[in-house]
Amino acid sequence: MIIGHQRQIQLIDLHLRSGAMSHAYLFSGARHAGKMTVAKKVAAALLCEKRGTGKDALFSCGACYACRMIKAGTHPDMVMIDTEETRKTLLHLEDAHHIRQHAALSAYGKTRIFIIRDVSKITREAANAFLKILEEPRRQALFLLLARVADDVLATIRSRVWHIRFWPVSEELLTASIQKEYHVSWEQAAKTARLADGLPGIAMRLVASAEEQTSLDKERARVYALFDASIAERMKFAEKLRENTDGMQKWFTESIAILQNKVHTHLPHRGRQAVIAADQCRMLMEREEQFLKPYGVKRIIFEDALIKLS
Ligand SMILES: [Zn+2]
Repeated sequence: MIIGHQRQIQLIDLHLRSGAMSHAYLFSGARHAGKMTVAKKVAAALLCEKRGTGKDALFSCGACYACRMIKAGTHPDMVMIDTEETRKTLLHLEDAHHIRQHAALSAYGKTRIFIIRDVSKITREAANAFLKILEEPRRQALFLLLARVADDVLATIRSRVWHIRFWPVSEELLTASIQKEYHVSWEQAAKTARLADGLPGIAMRLVASAEEQTSLDKERARVYALFDASIAERMKFAEKLRENTDGMQKWFTESIAILQNKVHTHLPHRGRQAVIAADQCRMLMEREEQFLKPYGVKRIIFEDALIKLS
């Protein structure tokens, strides 16, 4: 299921229907925003046995052999290079070789689709090899490159692809979609949407698991408590996460979401609270950007942000 991103989907659909598909796209946006879901939808639209027969944007039937193989991740014309799945921190030269090998073969169908996540984590060596592949005129290959922050993708790659941004979707849309799809009460849907901060991937996980919702509630309470904690307590928290990059990333996401809410709540009263929250939010966003870069010392950036948050 795709929630939101209609403009992005319609744009790619327009490219597809007019025969003006670019050979490579960069999808940028937060984790769980829906980039991978849309990438698979593009693959399905291109590989579906009934392609071109439906009116919907990026139509695929969902039932033919090709569609079922895409869902299962086994379609030979959909090649996935996914650092999240393999839990590798970087894309290496061997990944570029893997892409080259597959790109050299002709597709079983009309097009072979390469989905690469996260392209900002590509090593320079692998990037050079990958650029050569991108530059080869190959009508049969389509590259869908995924990254959280477009600025972190090498400029040499960015300049050769069509860039599409994915924003978090609105709380209203998220609430309505959850209610419709999962048949839960409006209150339940609204609560889930609020916790998910506009990220459909998180919302779906939350709605599927009450446990996950409770644990997110708890985590948020912990993050809240840190705002008023002493330096010593914060350092204790930092020590606990010292090897846990995902935990640090979660803390950034949670804290920024809490501060954004604070700004919205206090803004109508034009109070000092709103100004302070906005300043803290800006500081955290800057630090998070440094944190997301592949070569920074993440622990130091994290501790620095944690200390400055007072
Ligand atoms: Zn199909």
